[in-house]
Amino acid sequence: MKIGKLVVPLCLPFLLVACTTQDGSEKSPDLGALWVQNSAEYHAVSRQVYRTASMALPALIADKAWSAIPYQNNAENLPPAIIMDIDQTVVNGIDFELGYERPFTSTKHDAWNDSHVAMPVPGASEFVELARASGVQVFFLTGRPCSTTAESSCPPKSIAVQDLIEAGIPADEADVSLAGEQQDWGSEKKVRRDYIARNHRVIMLFGDDLGDFVPCVRRSPVAPCETGATIANRLALATEHDAYWGAGWYILPNPMYGSWTTVK
Ligand SMILES: [Mg+2]
Repeated sequence: MKIGKLVVPLCLPFLLVACTTQDGSEKSPDLGALWVQNSAEYHAVSRQVYRTASMALPALIADKAWSAIPYQNNAENLPPAIIMDIDQTVVNGIDFELGYERPFTSTKHDAWNDSHVAMPVPGASEFVELARASGVQVFFLTGRPCSTTAESSCPPKSIAVQDLIEAGIPADEADVSLAGEQQDWGSEKKVRRDYIARNHRVIMLFGDDLGDFVPCVRRSPVAPCETGATIANRLALATEHDAYWGAGWYILPNPMYGSWTTVK
């Protein structure tokens, strides 16, 4: 049974003082998590991203030469599609972030999501509704791994679909892909973006991580990347694609976790 938004954090995150965790260690509240949980600014910037995208949508549908995948060519006769990440892009997992006992595991994340009602990122559900009503197919690519238990082939997939529905986005399993769902679908999302781009003109990308837009953004390289990322070359990657930010590529803020935390 879902228990709604009730969260009993291990410390009091609205007090900027150290607190004691369940294992007895001292932990300072995460300022990034506090910002997502408490700030009006988080609400405002999320709305801003989705409103900007909504205003751009008609032109990107109409421009048959346009693709949000820089190397996609000759897609003018393909139906338009949008690719969106799930966590911290359309589903706000702040309660999990503040409530789970470290270290992070996908099993803990799935269990939490299975037993709690997902919260929406402001503006996301309205945007998806608009895109679909405009004839655009919306695909959700998540880094959540497909199988975290042995009993079923992909139990987290139904949890991801349910989270979307709880966040106000009607969805079924055909709309969602998880890491590892097919043999070469790893945590590097480029492979799955390319798969969708075989049959669709991808007009927009949405995510909270640079890896939702370009490959090779983590310190540890994952195929097809041959070298690991650094702070400097991640920034160079973002800068190289400046023309796309807010114009086909839409990034939501995540000061809590992400590939940016892996690099030096
Ligand atoms: Mg995400």
